[in-house]
Amino acid sequence: MRELDGYDRMVDPHAVTSGGSHVKPLSSLAEALPRSGIREIMALASQMENVVNLSVGEPSFNTPAHIIDAAFEAAGRGETKYTSNYGTPKLRQAIADKYTEAWGTTVTPDRVLASTGGVNAIIAMIYAIVEPGDEILVPDPGWPNYISAAGLAHATPVRYPCQIEDGFLPDLDALEKLITPKTKILITCNPSNPTGVVFPAETVEALVKLAKKHDLYLLSDEMYEALVFDGVHIPAAKYDEDGRVITISGFSKTFAMTGWRLGYAIANPELILLAGKMMEPMTSCPTAISQAAGIAAIKGPQDCVEAMRQAYLNRRNIARDLLWPAGLLPVVPEGAFYALIDLRCTGMSGRDLALGLLKEEKVALAPGDTFGHVTANGMVRLSLASSDEDVAEGCRRIIRFANNHRQ
Ligand code: PLP
Repeated sequence: MRELDGYDRMVDPHAVTSGGSHVKPLSSLAEALPRSGIREIMALASQMENVVNLSVGEPSFNTPAHIIDAAFEAAGRGETKYTSNYGTPKLRQAIADKYTEAWGTTVTPDRVLASTGGVNAIIAMIYAIVEPGDEILVPDPGWPNYISAAGLAHATPVRYPCQIEDGFLPDLDALEKLITPKTKILITCNPSNPTGVVFPAETVEALVKLAKKHDLYLLSDEMYEALVFDGVHIPAAKYDEDGRVITISGFSKTFAMTGWRLGYAIANPELILLAGKMMEPMTSCPTAISQAAGIAAIKGPQDCVEAMRQAYLNRRNIARDLLWPAGLLPVVPEGAFYALIDLRCTGMSGRDLALGLLKEEKVALAPGDTFGHVTANGMVRLSLASSDEDVAEGCRRIIRFANNHRQ
């Protein structure tokens, strides 16, 4: 069987029968990655009727028509092929132009990496920076994907506190104490999912300075930069002196384009070069048609963005006017489209709260412990990405639940 030399080790995975005891165990890394607590509630809610669903962080609007038209036109022109791992030159230029204007400093296209949603940009950056065992500082409460992204790269996520007493802003002293020689990346999220907090300029500046002092990369997730209700969004890149800031953003939230899977990172060219290399084995490139749509989103009329911001602001006000007087809204969200609701008065955990609210009040919310085990346990996250009526009705049900379970 000499002719099979070198081939005998090629195993057809489909030849393995499922469930057989001879099948080798699956990846312990994959098994250990935490499941999203939000998915559990969504799955249960989908089996029930008349549920007010305030659990999902997905815009309730359709993608604006001119963006959809641009995608059709691109497909018609034959823009249906692979693109560069870094995104098309036109999209990279459009993103560079947008931030040159927004930041008041020249951003060149070689500082831009287009990605299959912001999630893909985050993991590409982490892969490009960390060695196994390196530590990544992540906010608590914070978006759970940071934890799983660190896990995929065999890095260790270390949570730093953003406490109610500090208005959910990062506790800089506590954060600094968590830095070790293994710490390589500090992740921040501004405006924040799940708290809706928008960082003041002093906080952003202090975070960049801290990253510089300890020679860390600062991965600043600014996915909700266009959705600010009070104050202004301050980009971390504004204070970057030596190319250590990585800005993550995208089209999902700003332009209601979650399903198009298009995001990007802006960083120093050397880092972009390496992170783009990571794209080949992951997705090769974002979808060509989505990239064409992204150009139309950036270069086209922006009144659709303002209209959506106004709608979220209106819902934020509806939720605030109901929950604040009831003592359940510790911090009024200033941006993004979320609010953390404080139900510690019930003595229940985030998961039990979400399950109880779903069962008793038919309102679906994200369990707080999905976002962290310290600050957000005993809370639930409400998403404003639903209709005005649903937000109002959901808040009334939450208040009733709190009154029925208050200890
Ligand atoms: N960052 C934050 C804080 C998010 O909440 C999300 C999505 O929910 C993302 C990044 C990623 O968005 P996408 O991959 O759709 O661009």
